[in-house]
Amino acid sequence: MRTRRRGGTQVTIGRVLIAGAGVGGLTAALALLRLGTDVEVYEQAHELREVGAGVQLAANGTRVLYALGVGDELKALSCEAQGKEIRLWSTGETWKLFDLGPKSIERYGFPYFTVYRPDLLEVLARAVRTLKPDAIHLGARCAGFAQDDDSVTLKLESGATARGDVLVGADGVHSRVRQGLFGADRAEFTGNMAWRGIVPMERLPSHMARMVGSNWVGPGGHIVHYPLRGGAVMNFVGVLERADWRVESWSARGTTGELARDFGGWHADIQAFIRAIDAPYKWALMVRAPLERWSVGRVTLLGDAAHSMLPFLAQGAVMAIEDGLVLARCLEQFGVDEGLQRYDTARRGRTRRAVEGSAANLHRFHNRALADPDEARRFVDREWADARIAERYDWLFTYDATAVPL
Ligand SMILES: Cc1cc2nc3c(=O)[nH]c(=O)nc-3n(C[C@H](O)[C@H](O)[C@H](O)COP(=O)(O)OP(=O)(O)OC[C@H]3O[C@@H](n4cnc5c(N)ncnc54)[C@H](O)[C@@H]3O)c2cc1C
Repeated sequence: MRTRRRGGTQVTIGRVLIAGAGVGGLTAALALLRLGTDVEVYEQAHELREVGAGVQLAANGTRVLYALGVGDELKALSCEAQGKEIRLWSTGETWKLFDLGPKSIERYGFPYFTVYRPDLLEVLARAVRTLKPDAIHLGARCAGFAQDDDSVTLKLESGATARGDVLVGADGVHSRVRQGLFGADRAEFTGNMAWRGIVPMERLPSHMARMVGSNWVGPGGHIVHYPLRGGAVMNFVGVLERADWRVESWSARGTTGELARDFGGWHADIQAFIRAIDAPYKWALMVRAPLERWSVGRVTLLGDAAHSMLPFLAQGAVMAIEDGLVLARCLEQFGVDEGLQRYDTARRGRTRRAVEGSAANLHRFHNRALADPDEARRFVDREWADARIAERYDWLFTYDATAVPL
């Protein structure tokens, strides 16, 4: 328990319970521990090992990770993409989206990393355990909670309970904590699904082994690929308008044949990539109406539990990272009641804008104008003009979760 004095009043911060040891839950745990607040994290999985997939961490996320002392460790396991580009699905024609590498540091102060997700989790978990070795409880599935004026009790599926001053639902898209606060989930299918896979770089044509993020856009689908682990592997995400897959899961498998059929007719580089993927995974893309508030009493939400978004701005995990730090700062400075209110206020508008910006990219990336190369050129020149790119991304990358007024 930690007590601080602020403006003559006592702010008491006790133990924070966190449901979910994903990117958001672990970032929050690390930020809280570093500010001197006790945490216990309850994760349903028996090991902290996400299925292999990549995640892009823009400067607004790496800024937080550096502030939490894990930036250099992560850098050693990441790729620092030199830039991002737009490519046309049929001809492979290429346009610059933006420069990254040194440009990201020059413009935003921090790098743009592409990271293998298990590496990110491991770095965060190690940092948490360095500060509190037994903070993370594995095989601990949260089933519900009860709260009163003095405390909140988390109920685990095993029948065990844990008592704390705050409960944070960082338990992802299917959050039990969100359901406990606001009732049954009402997810709506977007008519799109995402294919995911990773491939050792040596299995791709050598001209594809570049340190850039590529976004292939086409009518009704798009494909994003970027290097991971210092360029040892390439990550693949292929999104397609397809109405027959409704499972929102990291672990649902598909086949390479099915994936190849879905992207039949796309450029030869894409065909070569797909042939090299041994284990493709599929994920149905759902949307949820924004919540009017995230906190009730001593219980709040964070990351996908609060604001799941389509992955078309590559900001879902980054927003969870920002949430984690801002939540820790709010609790540390203002205690439970005011802290949770300020957290809600600080984060809801920004994450809502990210949700909306991600959804808007769906129509851009899958536009019918992309079917014809001449029309596509005009469309790309207009939609990815410098000023429009800056409008879509600068507000994201410049945000400073370490210093934003609370
Ligand atoms: C195809 C795809 C590509 C993406 N690419 C990017 C990208 O490039 N950049 C980016 O920033 N974001 C990206 N995202 C979004 C990003 O993956 C998510 O926003 C991010 O994982 C959210 O983190 P989280 O901690 O909130 O939730 P999660 O990562 O889902 O973690 C939730 C954790 O809670 C645990 N849990 C769930 N229920 C319970 C329970 N009842 N009890 C205990 N534990 C529980 C889960 O096991 C999990 O460990 C992408 C998403 C998809 C689908």
